[in-house]
Amino acid sequence: MRYKRIKILYVEDEKNVREMLARFISRFCGELYVGENGEEGLALYSKHKVDIVISDIKMPKMNGIEMVETIKKKNQRQLVIFTTAHIDSEYLFRAVELQVDGYIAKPVDFDKLKFRIEKCINEIESKKAAEQLKESEEKFRKISQTAQMGIFIYKEKFVYVNSAMCNILGYSEEEMLNMEPWTIVPQEIQEKFKKIAFRRIAGDYFPATYSDILLVRKDATEITVRIGADTIPQDGGYAGLGTVIDITDILHIQNRLKQLAQAIEQMDEMVRISDKEGYIMYVNEALTRYTGYKKSELIGKSNKIFKSGEHSDSFYQKMYETIHKRKSFQATFVNAKKNGEHYHEDQIISPILNEESGEIEYFVSTSKDVTEHVQMQEKMKVLATTDLLTGIKNRYSMNQHITNEMNRIKRYGSSFALMMLDIDFFKKVNDTYGHDVGDYILKEFSTIVEKTIRDTDVFARWGGEEFLVLAPGENTKGAKALAEKIRKNVYEYDFNTVGNITISIGLSVCNSFSDKEKLLKNIDDALYEAKENGRNRVVFYKCTCAEAC
Ligand code: GH3
Ligand code: MG
Ligand code: MG
Repeated sequence: MRYKRIKILYVEDEKNVREMLARFISRFCGELYVGENGEEGLALYSKHKVDIVISDIKMPKMNGIEMVETIKKKNQRQLVIFTTAHIDSEYLFRAVELQVDGYIAKPVDFDKLKFRIEKCINEIESKKAAEQLKESEEKFRKISQTAQMGIFIYKEKFVYVNSAMCNILGYSEEEMLNMEPWTIVPQEIQEKFKKIAFRRIAGDYFPATYSDILLVRKDATEITVRIGADTIPQDGGYAGLGTVIDITDILHIQNRLKQLAQAIEQMDEMVRISDKEGYIMYVNEALTRYTGYKKSELIGKSNKIFKSGEHSDSFYQKMYETIHKRKSFQATFVNAKKNGEHYHEDQIISPILNEESGEIEYFVSTSKDVTEHVQMQEKMKVLATTDLLTGIKNRYSMNQHITNEMNRIKRYGSSFALMMLDIDFFKKVNDTYGHDVGDYILKEFSTIVEKTIRDTDVFARWGGEEFLVLAPGENTKGAKALAEKIRKNVYEYDFNTVGNITISIGLSVCNSFSDKEKLLKNIDDALYEAKENGRNRVVFYKCTCAEAC
């Protein structure tokens, strides 16, 4: 039989013997080094790590005994077989002293040599096997003792438990080694476990199994563990091997997470979780309900899917800057549903940071659909700024427009015209035709004025039968012409049963003027003058103050 791992050094001075024996020896080993004398043998020995040295004794330069003496100084346990024709007592004695492993007389009997070599090889192999076993046992012990996982081996009782196993159950190693393995499970399932344990010990074939079960600790508390079980050979028979991981905490966390996930799913608020790049990782039920998208249509997509186009680039830029500064961003977004419809959502986007590195891990966004609220607010805004009878702007709105316009010309220059329109003898209309006809006149009058002025002009009911027109960018000449045009259009209109009515207009143009009350008083004065001078006319306010108004 050839042992590929075995290396042999063979030293012999007689050429014929050397060649013949070398051929024979090479049949047993993986490598064979051949030397012609002790010196050569020693050189080869120090170059190669050999398992067996086979050497002649009497050789030139350095004999076998001297060579082996040097070798044994290096490695006391080196296996050596001598072959020699000189069976004289001196050599024998020294060979014994050197504790050689074989001594074969020349001419060499092949069977004897074979027997000797194989004996040496067996010794080497079993030494190696013992070392390996020791190593692997050592490894197992190290792994087992440092493992967080409980490991145990059992027959009728535990025969091995690691320290993690003792910690999990609260017993000492000594206590555990005296216990029957099935006593660590709750009473009601002990019988079942005992049966399985005995079948494993008896060597019944069983696949490895994993299950989550309860174990009873020494203090009688119960813990949930994931237990793995298998059968292993042990001392010529079989034993049960088990591994245990305490999953009580994991289960607890799992349950908490499940509860949280359920809560998020049932919330009426929309929840979105996105990765660092803004790709959607999770959406809750509410979000799918509001937007019309299915979960599968959103997961993995960019958040841009909700873009309505109603926000400026700077809006999104501000959002990105804020969240990448690791701050929350809150705003009312106008987003688009799957069917393209726009909706308003009050959204807070919060970056979630890695606890250790502080880096952004993902973004959580929660939002509420506020479309109805926004629409209602817009309606209220319209109501708050509109005159109910005529549908044109009201006094409150006009006041704001005048203020804005004054601010505008203060910053950018230019001018605007403001005129006050008052229906002449309106009281008489009411008295003669009734209040409803009066209302009709007010509405018709408003329509005429609206048709006369430009889109950029602002027209509002100031109160009763008094109205204001604000014409941005208008100069004196243009303002007078516009006022005249309005007056004429009203005058020429046929108000059914009432026939013709007239209006008076007080007018001013404002360029650097900043006192609103004064401006309003000026046009009121001009209107008064128009009334005084016979009505149905336009009076331009002549400024007597120091300001250029
Ligand atoms: P003047 O030429 O000097 O402006 O005379 P006037 O009668 O138009 O002015 P006066 O201020 O004396 O009367 C205004 C009238 O407008 C009194 C009020 O009954 C009427 N009026 C105010 N608001 C309404 C309204 O909403 N509907 C109707 N039908 N009449 C209104
Ligand atoms: Mg009036
Ligand atoms: Mg009037």
